[in-house]
Amino acid sequence: MQTRPLGSTGLEVSILGYGASPLGGVFGEVDAAEGVRAVHAAIDQGINLFDVAPFYGLTRAETALGEALRGVPRDQYILATKVGRYGGADFDFSPSRVLRSIDESLQRLQVETIDIITCHDIEFVSIDQVIGEAIPALHQAREQGKVRFIGVSGLPLKVYHAVLDREPLDTILTYCHHTLNDNSLADHLPYLHGKGVGVINASPFAMGLLTGRELPEWHPAGESIRAACRAAAEHCRRRGAEIGELALQCAVSSPGIATTLTGMRSRQEVEQNAAWIEAPIDAELMSEVLAILAPVHNQTWPSGRDENN
Ligand code: NAD
Repeated sequence: MQTRPLGSTGLEVSILGYGASPLGGVFGEVDAAEGVRAVHAAIDQGINLFDVAPFYGLTRAETALGEALRGVPRDQYILATKVGRYGGADFDFSPSRVLRSIDESLQRLQVETIDIITCHDIEFVSIDQVIGEAIPALHQAREQGKVRFIGVSGLPLKVYHAVLDREPLDTILTYCHHTLNDNSLADHLPYLHGKGVGVINASPFAMGLLTGRELPEWHPAGESIRAACRAAAEHCRRRGAEIGELALQCAVSSPGIATTLTGMRSRQEVEQNAAWIEAPIDAELMSEVLAILAPVHNQTWPSGRDENN
């Protein structure tokens, strides 16, 4: 598995990372044993970055990932989790909750150090609080050796500027903005690279839109985006291909993006995705799919507070 440097962290991350939200049942129930097999398959394929959060399955994903990684030598994987989001509408970025959250995550993940700690979905709260309270608490946890690198995540790309204009970060975790239907991240890469930040890209399948499968009921995309993605998936199927292959190849192909996190709920998905990123891109099919998606290009959905969108 190819690796790339993650900003200025000194970490070398696999270009495909393992997103553990499916282990919390976020995309439908996952058999616990199959979840463990998926994590082990990821290690076998050379994936070295594992991302999770207390929010995923309301702590279930962290517990399941901790169990699955038990026994794997700690220097074989880079572990990322998050603070601040604990439910659909439950956010708390106060210093005491952030510090308690880290201790709880360390326990569930059965480790002594979290490599990357991310303030989760900061567009839902005041950016002033993230900068003035949460990030200083994370620095305190870093001094205690509990975390190594600090980042933020959110859907609106604007939030990265709102933080980085005022405060340095090691990483950002952006999602659904470097896909076949939405590549708005590209315009922000020069700024992010100028800040020396490691760019973690997530959701190459746009959280299921680009798999041709049924969407989870919480999926926020509007009907025009859904319809265009369905049409593109159908076109691939008629051509004997899967849209997921193009989607993943598109995501991992940018050298300025260190890694792409995808949620994988089975060994089969891990092996399939590892094979897809090695396969040559079908340029003709890619341009046909991009043409089908052109009417919704870079369309997204609002997330969090108005002022952060
Ligand atoms: P994704 O785009 O990776 O889609 C995941 C879906 O695709 C799941 O249903 C999975 O079963 C399916 N899938 C995976 N491989 C497949 C294959 N080969 N064929 C068909 N279907 C396949 O979206 P995601 O899981 O939401 O994002 C990846 C990870 O990124 C998350 O698990 C999480 O760790 C992280 N993330 C973080 C944030 C945030 O911080 N706000 C937001 C989104 C994602």
